[in-house]
Amino acid sequence: MMTTGFVVAIDGPAGAGKSTVAKLVAEELGYAYIDTGAMYRAVTLKLINTGTAFSPEAVGRIARGMHISFKPDGKVNRVFADGLEITEAIRSTAVTDAVSRVAALGAVREAMVAQQRRMGQEGNVVLDGRDIGTVVFPQAGCKVFLTASVDERARRRYEELKAKGQTVDLEQIKHDIAVRDKKDSERELAPLKQAEDAVLVDTSALTIDQVVATILKLVRERQ
Ligand code: C5P
Repeated sequence: MMTTGFVVAIDGPAGAGKSTVAKLVAEELGYAYIDTGAMYRAVTLKLINTGTAFSPEAVGRIARGMHISFKPDGKVNRVFADGLEITEAIRSTAVTDAVSRVAALGAVREAMVAQQRRMGQEGNVVLDGRDIGTVVFPQAGCKVFLTASVDERARRRYEELKAKGQTVDLEQIKHDIAVRDKKDSERELAPLKQAEDAVLVDTSALTIDQVVATILKLVRERQ
């Protein structure tokens, strides 16, 4: 799909810091930011909240009938589904545990990718997810594959949850991240994988500012 403006694609496994970094990169460039993981989470939340039994048909119907939008607000990227704010609700454990199963369905991916392409069609946009550089915008001007060791990703998530006052178990978090990575990497449709022309950035030993600076440099070289 051709866009007039520039597209930055940031893919990578769970907890690599994609959304934090993508949001800052977008802010710096004056681009829009689309958190595609939030979109699969939104579908999952609706499935749970409506008490719908899991079936590819039912979940596909939910995905096709949903309109998801974003509104940046200071440090927060607010997420809305059909006008209703779901920023916090989509981060629940119930949603995180079920989202990979929902995101593996063809009908769901089709509906979400169509919305993502529509939102990003004018370019000047940063998208983060699992399949942006491989499927959604394979022509993106700059592709980054953001990763970090499982230990480091688990440690970061642990600190984040602890700061929110939640009781958390580091080993459990590590296990959950590994399970989600496995599901996302081994699925048939649009699996998590580095695009051939993506630049690998390992964030294990980098600060957020260093990662943002690395990506901005790549973007400016390619613009
Ligand atoms: O990035 P985040 O952890 O919010 O993504 C939640 C889930 O959504 C992922 O574990 C994956 O199953 C799915 N996802 C996807 N394709 C994307 C973004 C997210 O399948 N582009």
